[in-house]
Amino acid sequence: MSALDVFLSHLQKVQSTGKGRFKACCPAHDDKSPSLAIKDTDGRLLIHCFGGCATEDVLAAVGLSFSDIMPDKVSGETIHKDRKPFYAGDVLKIMAFESRLVFLCASDMAKGRALTKSENERLLLAAGRLSHASEVANNGY
Ligand SMILES: [Zn+2]
Repeated sequence: MSALDVFLSHLQKVQSTGKGRFKACCPAHDDKSPSLAIKDTDGRLLIHCFGGCATEDVLAAVGLSFSDIMPDKVSGETIHKDRKPFYAGDVLKIMAFESRLVFLCASDMAKGRALTKSENERLLLAAGRLSHASEVANNGY
């Protein structure tokens, strides 16, 4: 079962809005008409509530965490192995995603919650990817 299938199985009024794109009622607020946008990008999910809920609250409402919607293997790794050029838009998408993860870990730590071993490892991976992304951007490919 993919991260997408798992996440969608928790939602109400799921509708497809395009390839890998869905909308559904947000589980984190009293949502009468679907205001949650979900996009599957190579097995990782981008989630946005137009009602203003934080992604971590949306995930918490269905008992999931960031690691459930973001498997370790991402498209950036495949692109790198194949030695194909990075595109700025892709690099920015990865950086945005990894930055969000770092932010979530930081908010958890600020609230006094210790990270689990796997969250800690994922945070280190995020730091590595952010650092790698800036190298890629500086080299122009
Ligand atoms: Zn919401």
